[in-house]
Formats: sequence, C-alpha cells, structure tokens
Amino acid sequence: MAVALVTGASRGIGAAIAASLADAGFDVAVGYARDADGAAATVDAVTARGRAAAAVGGDQADPGAAAAMVAAAEDALGPLDALVLNAGITRDGLMMRMSDDDWQAVIDTNLSGAFYVARAALRGMMKRRAGSIVAVSSVVGITGNAGQVNYAAAKAGMVGMTKSLAREVGSRGVRVNAVAPGYIATDMTAGLGDDLRDGIVAATPLGRLGTPQDVAGVVAFLCSPQAAFMTGTVVNVDGGLSM
Ligand code: NAP
Repeated sequence: MAVALVTGASRGIGAAIAASLADAGFDVAVGYARDADGAAATVDAVTARGRAAAAVGGDQADPGAAAAMVAAAEDALGPLDALVLNAGITRDGLMMRMSDDDWQAVIDTNLSGAFYVARAALRGMMKRRAGSIVAVSSVVGITGNAGQVNYAAAKAGMVGMTKSLAREVGSRGVRVNAVAPGYIATDMTAGLGDDLRDGIVAATPLGRLGTPQDVAGVVAFLCSPQAAFMTGTVVNVDGGLSM
C-alpha cells in the first residue's frame, strides 16, 4: 500500500493532487496550515475514492511544525512513499516597495518550508531505499515576473534544491523532480485583474489558464513507477507559456 503526503492540500492544486494520487492508489496525508474545513473536504475526497486519508496541520515555515506534520502523516498512514511539496503563498509587490516581512514570509514558507518538510521525510525514504519527492515550483521561478521577486526567488530556489537533492539521494533509490505550473485557476490567481488574465491567456499557446487537475495528473505521473527513470527534472505545466 503506497502512502503520500501532499502539503497545502486544503484547496487548489494540492487538493487536486491529493485526489489524483488517491485515484492512483495512494493513501494520502492532507497537509494544511489554517483551513481545517478545506483539509477535511480533501480527506473526504480521498476516502470517497476508497483510500485512507488523514489531515495533518501545521505551519511549514516552522521547522518543528514541519517535522511534526511528517511524523503525524507517518503515524496515521505509515511510511511515506511520495511527498509533494505544494504549499505556498504570495505577497506580491514591486521590489522598491517590498517590505522585509513580505520578502521573508514568502522565502520562509515556500522555500525553507519545503526544505524542512523534505528533510524530515528523507531519512525514512533513504533507509527504505525508495521514494518520490515532487516540488511544485512555478513558471515564474524560471522566467521571473515583475512584482514577484520574493516568490520567483523562492520558486527558483526550489528548482536548485530539487536538482541538488536528486544528485544526493539518487543512489539511495529516492527520486526528486519538480513541476513548474503556469497560471492555474485557484484562490491564488483569483485576484488577477481581467486585463492581466486576458494577457496571460493570449500569451499561452493553449489559450487558457490551467486547472488544478492539469497539474495534478503530471504530479501523479512523477510519483508513479512510470517515472522510475526520471529524477532532477523540471516539467513545465503551462500550456506552452514559457517556451
Ligand atoms: P492556494 O489555493 O492559495 O493554496 C495554498 C495551500 O498552501 C493551502 O492549502 C494552504 O493551507 C497551504 N499553505 C499556505 N501557507 C502554509 C504554511 N505556512 N504551512 C503549510 N501550508 C501552507 O494555492 P494554489 O494556487 O493551489 O498553489 C499551490 C502551489 O502551486 C503553491 O506552491 C503555488 O505557489 C504553486 N503555483 C500556483 C500557481 C497558480 O497559478 N495558482 C502557479 C504556479 C505555481 P491553508 O488553506 O490551510 O492556508
């Protein structure tokens, strides 16, 4: 029986990843920070697919809470076969006006948080000589984006972390990959103005925003045996936006 932990699975892309992994046969630990109701709904979506699930809460920017989240997931469902580093936030603004807090919150949550969670899961995966870690980066980490120096730096950092860790643990049977989604319709992008949204759609060869399911299918593939010879890759899931 395979077990996965998906961070940030109370809504949006993470909730879709949890459902796709359940469809692929994983029991799923549903990570969240504040939205216990959202996490409970994702737990229901997983159990409705015939798999076990547990909600595991905590602020991943806190190293102790991140480790506790991994421990709670393993206590509830068993050793992790897959880990999806999906939780993230935005605090957008032009660099000249960006506060220290807005810089630090995004780096702490998106980059350091992913590091804390992955580090806590790694020892067990290495001992068992098996595991798949998928980091949810962003197209913005590759192309940059005005108004998002904090977010782009964190997402580019996740790519560097993914590739470095893939080199560290490949010989121990642990694979580490990333996805770089383009603009996906979730709470995170709900506040985009119509003009910005239309501009993104016009620049996207496939002519639409992505859906959480578009990302979830690729993540489930990277967690599956079909991706057994993939590590250190970054898969763009962006409708062609970044090519
Ligand atoms: P979302 O709807 O805003 O959901 C974010 C998730 O992260 C929520 O489950 C939230 O939990 C969790 N989270 C936030 N802060 C946390 C913390 N400190 N500790 C633990 N969990 C925390 O975002 P989304 O659009 O689904 O995005 C998911 C991931 O994809 C993010 O990493 C995002 O950067 C990335 N991404 C999104 C897009 C896009 O266009 N939407 C594009 C590229 C990449 P609570 O609900 O409990 O607060």
